[in-house]
Amino acid sequence: MRSRPVTIRSIELAIVERAWQSGWIRPQRSRQPLFQRVAIIGSGPAGLACAQQLVRAGYRVTVYEKADRIGGLLRYGIPDFRLEKPVLERRLAQLHAEGVRFRTGVHVGSDLDMGELRRTAHAVVLACGSEQPREMHVPGRMLNGIHFAMDYLRQQNRRVAGDFVSSESVIDAAGKQVAVIGGGDTGGDCVGTAIRQGASQVTQIQYHECPPAHVDNLLYWPEPAPERCQSDHDEEGCKHIWEFDTVAF
Ligand SMILES: Cc1cc2nc3c(=O)[nH]c(=O)nc-3n(C[C@H](O)[C@H](O)[C@H](O)COP(=O)(O)OP(=O)(O)OC[C@H]3O[C@@H](n4cnc5c(N)ncnc54)[C@H](O)[C@@H]3O)c2cc1C
Repeated sequence: MRSRPVTIRSIELAIVERAWQSGWIRPQRSRQPLFQRVAIIGSGPAGLACAQQLVRAGYRVTVYEKADRIGGLLRYGIPDFRLEKPVLERRLAQLHAEGVRFRTGVHVGSDLDMGELRRTAHAVVLACGSEQPREMHVPGRMLNGIHFAMDYLRQQNRRVAGDFVSSESVIDAAGKQVAVIGGGDTGGDCVGTAIRQGASQVTQIQYHECPPAHVDNLLYWPEPAPERCQSDHDEEGCKHIWEFDTVAF
């Protein structure tokens, strides 16, 4: 509590990477297969975790995903510079080996009727995520060059994966001055992506005040202290504007 924290993430990461590399993490096939079928709609972390628990318990699990690849936001939200896709592929291979079946390109509700799914499966799990962006109702919102984070990140993830993106719809920050509104994981990933695309300047805008660089953790325990963390993007040149509300573009 009083000294520099230990890097638990790094320790856990080193342990699990060693386990994968040494072949200690193996598929766990159920020894008591059940006859009940479970359909899971959505292949993000919620759907995948659910599939793994159920298949290991013996259920016959099929995951339905409307996108062309499995993974939800792990695939099309979080950029490769933070989550390398082989990490996801490794886990998917484990799920395949444990018996989970995947059906991509199936939008339940339009490609596949929910009633039909209910007839063929004993239980249906909804793990569809949250796909509605929060709109900003301010003048100028519809001007060119203003994008939702997920339109930007999804497209960049596709480009990095080698998918074709037409030049008319491409969102590219190269050579541009970029303002990112919002300071969470999503905003941070937009900052990192814009920097990697070669933006001339990236500024992150947040409406709350700048947290202090150092605080007494004991005053806040067990809640996390509102301490300002230095991010990699700061070192990469991202500028910050605090206590700034967007009232118009
Ligand atoms: C840019 C970004 C960075 C993030 N970084 C972090 C982080 O560092 N740490 C962290 O803990 N969290 C992070 N998050 C949050 C985390 O990614 C989400 O909380 C998590 O992905 C939610 O998982 P989910 O399975 O509920 O939904 P999702 O990952 O959204 O998956 C839902 C899936 O369901 C599919 N689907 C929806 N409807 C249907 C349908 N009708 N038929 C078939 N398929 C359907 C969708 O296509 C999607 O693939 C980040 C999020 C974003 C956007």
